[in-house]
Amino acid sequence: MIAYDIDGVLAEKPPAAIKAWGKMTGNERKERKQFLLAWYRDAQPLYQPTEPFTAISARKEEDAIHETTRLWFEQHYPNMLQHLILLPVSRSIENVVRFKSAAIELYEVTEFTEDNKKILKGLAQNNLSCKLWYWERGMTERLAYNLK
Ligand SMILES: [Mg+2]
Repeated sequence: MIAYDIDGVLAEKPPAAIKAWGKMTGNERKERKQFLLAWYRDAQPLYQPTEPFTAISARKEEDAIHETTRLWFEQHYPNMLQHLILLPVSRSIENVVRFKSAAIELYEVTEFTEDNKKILKGLAQNNLSCKLWYWERGMTERLAYNLK
């Protein structure tokens, strides 16, 4: 199974929030959620995989996000998405590394492409039997990621 991160790899990533989630008011959180949902619906596609893949992303696992993301894949990468795996817990580097490592093992992922070097470092430290690739917008080719 080949897998990719979504934001910053397959889809243009949303701009960071001005405030940390923990410091937002209820209304600010609601607005941020709506902004993200609209972004996920309209995001520009980036990296173009040549074979079917699984997407493993720290987008939040909620019905509206899952469905919007699934529809976006149908529109931009028709019949290419095998599984869509989104983060069921709060987003911290530690949680995301644990979540992506578990998904890589569960789905027997042999190649994973990611744009966040902190995540790549955490995945590499977990000694998964999966080739890790670094790619971000503007690069022509992926780079094999290895711990230095
Ligand atoms: Mg990313």
